[in-house]
Amino acid sequence: MNSEKSKCEELKEKLLIKKKNGTLKMSEQDVTNADEFCEPYKEFLNKAKTEREFIKRTIELAKEKGFEEYNCENKYKPGDKIYYINRGKSLVLTVIGRKGCKDGIKMAAAHVDSPRIDIKPRPLYESNDLAFLKTHYYGGIKKYQWTTIPLALHGKVIKKDGTNLNVVLGESEDEPCFCITDLLPHLAKEQMNKTMLKGFTGEDLNILIGSRPFRSDEGSELVKLNIMKILNEKYGIIESDFLSAELEMVPAFKSRDIGFDKSMIGAYGHDDKVCAYTAVMAILDCESPEQTVMTILADKEEIGSDGNTGMKSAFFRYFIADIANQEGIKGRHVLTKSKCLSADVNAAFDPTYATVYEPMNSCYINNGVVITKYTGSGGKYDTSDASAEFMFEIRRMLEDANIVWQTGELGKVDGGGGGTVAKFIANLNVDVVDLGVPVLSMHAPFEIVSKSDVYMAYKTFRKFFES
Ligand code: MN
Ligand code: MN
Repeated sequence: MNSEKSKCEELKEKLLIKKKNGTLKMSEQDVTNADEFCEPYKEFLNKAKTEREFIKRTIELAKEKGFEEYNCENKYKPGDKIYYINRGKSLVLTVIGRKGCKDGIKMAAAHVDSPRIDIKPRPLYESNDLAFLKTHYYGGIKKYQWTTIPLALHGKVIKKDGTNLNVVLGESEDEPCFCITDLLPHLAKEQMNKTMLKGFTGEDLNILIGSRPFRSDEGSELVKLNIMKILNEKYGIIESDFLSAELEMVPAFKSRDIGFDKSMIGAYGHDDKVCAYTAVMAILDCESPEQTVMTILADKEEIGSDGNTGMKSAFFRYFIADIANQEGIKGRHVLTKSKCLSADVNAAFDPTYATVYEPMNSCYINNGVVITKYTGSGGKYDTSDASAEFMFEIRRMLEDANIVWQTGELGKVDGGGGGTVAKFIANLNVDVVDLGVPVLSMHAPFEIVSKSDVYMAYKTFRKFFES
């Protein structure tokens, strides 16, 4: 009986996936390192809430590490570190490898845009003595989550005279912030009977920005006029300047530790700044890789990667062609041999909403980086399905490096779906798989990740670049 039992244990040990709490799989040192690694990440998040801010801050850090702006006239040699900015909203950090790019490039591609509330081109109006801004939400949001929370205004305005104005208002406590109102429960009988989709419409997401009129006995829209007067005094803008602007409302709160054990971080924009940050840190710490390595920070992922700063833009292909050309080879030959970790988050299993997940193939907080073989929806539509060969390569790399990892799928089959930049890079004939950090409350104004998982993502990108 005893020997049979031990035989059973032996077979289990040999054949089955071991179940163990992710934190217990990590060394105590790794957990300590994770806590330390995440302090500057939290700070970074507070200062980089939009794609432009993320790119700007990344360039500052890259310069400190010896990166120089790319110039297509220059000739680059192994060990050179360059950054290529596309319109201030996407960026490629590159370290030229000892063997260059002839055997392909190793890339980590993340996106730096997050769901938010954009201001319309003609936003300002007054209604019943209150002033508002009309908005158009950006990305997949549950609208009700964005009401009755403090919002900060971020963005850029090009004024009538051509001067550039960068705006950040509402982040510090001595500044005003903004808000979308909601109905009191007492009068919400009709609203509460609507589906969550219809309880709030896109046109209901109006931002409250003021209530005091300009002092005058004559005239209409005096609250609006007073707001415009304040804006003109502070920024020198006039109403038509909203047209040449990209203004975004984002949650005004700061990133915070979550839990008595401080094991998690709550913040706006983990999707996908958590993977962007870790992929940036990995390349900044990468000194002399064998193959050329790149961290790609893309914009517009949340709305389908379209546009000239999104991952579908030719900017990326052109840049690869230029880098290849330096070595006298063709960009397409480099891409064909290249490998990419599409660095994006996945939905962490949430016990409160367990029914939408398939527990065996979901990812879990604290269980390390999550490899997602495919995303998409329905019968694997709209995704790149990573090959067995590439999955093996990544799995072997993670196992060899003692990195804690797990697999993930985005919820139950036919339960919904989503995508990443993976398929757009795969379409260039690159080997790609999604790998990133599990997130709770994804796309909410306040998302949650685990510190250990953040650190495991950093370790993975570093290992990928250096192996
Ligand atoms: Mn994402
Ligand atoms: Mn997303």
